[in-house]
Amino acid sequence: MEDLIKLLPDNIANQIAAGEVIQRPASVVKELLENAIDAGATKIDVNIKDAGKTLIQIVDNGSGMGAADAKLCFKRHATSKVRSAEDLFSLTTKGFRGEALASVAAIAHVEMKTCLKNEEIGRCVTVEGSEIVHEEEIVCPKGTSFEIKNLFFNVPARRNFLKKDSTEFKHIQDEFERIALAHEELHLTLTHNGNQIYNLAPAVLRKRVVNIIGGNTNDRLVPIDEETDIVSLKGFVLKPEHARKTRGDQFFFVNNRYFRSSYFHHAVNKAFDGLLKDNSHPGYFLYLTVDTTKIDVNVHPTKTEIKFEEEKFIYSILLSSIKQALGKYNIAPTLEFEQESSFNIPHSMRSQPAVEPQIRVDEGYNPFKSTSKPSSGTTGKTKDNFSSAIVNQGFGETKPKPEDWQQFYTIEEKEEQDAEPIIELDDNPSAGSFIVKNNYIISPSKSGLMLINARRSIERIVYDEIFNSFISSPINLQQLLFPLEREVSKNESNLWEENQSILTQLGFAGAIEKGNLKISAVPSVLQEETISSSIDELFSTIAYQEIDKGDVAHALILSIAKSASLKKINLSTNESIQGLVDQLFQCEQHVYSPSNKKIIETISLDEIHLKFR
Ligand code: ADP
Ligand code: MG
Repeated sequence: MEDLIKLLPDNIANQIAAGEVIQRPASVVKELLENAIDAGATKIDVNIKDAGKTLIQIVDNGSGMGAADAKLCFKRHATSKVRSAEDLFSLTTKGFRGEALASVAAIAHVEMKTCLKNEEIGRCVTVEGSEIVHEEEIVCPKGTSFEIKNLFFNVPARRNFLKKDSTEFKHIQDEFERIALAHEELHLTLTHNGNQIYNLAPAVLRKRVVNIIGGNTNDRLVPIDEETDIVSLKGFVLKPEHARKTRGDQFFFVNNRYFRSSYFHHAVNKAFDGLLKDNSHPGYFLYLTVDTTKIDVNVHPTKTEIKFEEEKFIYSILLSSIKQALGKYNIAPTLEFEQESSFNIPHSMRSQPAVEPQIRVDEGYNPFKSTSKPSSGTTGKTKDNFSSAIVNQGFGETKPKPEDWQQFYTIEEKEEQDAEPIIELDDNPSAGSFIVKNNYIISPSKSGLMLINARRSIERIVYDEIFNSFISSPINLQQLLFPLEREVSKNESNLWEENQSILTQLGFAGAIEKGNLKISAVPSVLQEETISSSIDELFSTIAYQEIDKGDVAHALILSIAKSASLKKINLSTNESIQGLVDQLFQCEQHVYSPSNKKIIETISLDEIHLKFR
């Protein structure tokens, strides 16, 4: 019988391998930057056109390559970095697989110019689809420069899969920033379509971090420093009050290599336990140094997942040293309140032992009344505007009050219990057509019984009401008396500028000065206390999505509606329940919440009969 097995031709094998290593333009940038660093470069310039779809150019002043290497480097498994199997267990270079250039060359048009340090004449090699199509001696600067054009020209599926330019460029910038944070000793520049985004001169680590995060980050960084036999840990965490809603500023490095680890991330989160506001995420820049024989970088083709031999120990070092650093800088008290006076303990109380604050429950809060008067009974008009009752709660209160402390504890309580928290119930719910148990309302319908999820109903009602006024009528602005200042990273400032026109349409007015965004007007539906979290939400929405006005509005309003639905509500009377149900049924879509979760479940009489047979 005929033998069927054949070795794949190189160009096909390379193309398959490329699928793993090169997912998008950013992967090329990462690999080429790593090569330049391995080649000992001290200055690297990255020049991008159209998010890398048209051009990726990386110029370094590293070692350069000789004539033979300049051709060999495009072959698969061609590497100068690993000579024997043992080398794999003590890697000091970023590359070692010898796959990156072969992969890039298989799926793009590549032109490389390279010249060794001690030579006058260099070489230019052009490769297309794994074939060397041109080669000549040239005079060029010492070091190596790569130009990558027509990425994925022969893999249309990949090319079509690429996202819009701003998204792809964001990925490039992420890779660049990871390298920049891992190598503060290098001079690095990043240019996109002729605009210089970064020009980072060699600096101390702290300065590098500040340069990347932008604004007045400096006094927000808490240094971390710990030496043990197994690991040395240095870096910074952001003070808890500067934690963001988005997960942006979270970086782990080991031996100057960026990596991800949900396990270590957990340790950091734990160290911040109780110090963060609702959904915010800690910011951290943490650098581990461990013996190269104690880690395995070879777990993942893009090398972002790393196995640690001593991971349990490192976990506990992370946890304890961050906890200690946060304690040392006395972070906790400034968490909720800016004003010192909030902490002044009256003289008369100073000798008394500290008492744990109690959870305070607003017994009388009725969402169906337009103003919430505590304990004012339940005779409010049930048709009152539900969402404004919720949204306006606490509006205009800027000064912290003692109750805020309690509020703070209430929030914690809420988070812990999550599923069945804060719907207030009378001990004896009034008889009638409604029964409430925890978050659920049971109500008779023509064909049986309806189970209604109260929180999701609120989310739907608030969402619809705000969305309708937002979209149908011209957007009402509220000019802020005092512009709200928010520090923005370089990336966020680009996003703001890029989406300027849509933001204006949505009612946001603001200008960026020296890494600070000064917001002078916001859509009037935003309540003052949620403006800053809404802006966080806004940034995370525009960062990765294909956006249009509807998307941004949806994300913003959804966040308002969600937070409204988490507030304490009182469903202790039939009127209040009736009000909620009526409003829900006025919504066009009342079966699903704006986050696409089911609000109503019906049980038919037949099903009920069956249960009693
Ligand atoms: P790896 O980095 O895993 O060795 P690559 O495919 O990325 O594999 O690179 C292949 C080889 O090409 C490297 O080992 C190195 O010898 C050489 N090389 C690549 N880029 C550069 C550069 N910018 N300067 C000098 N040599 C380089
Ligand atoms: Mg490499």
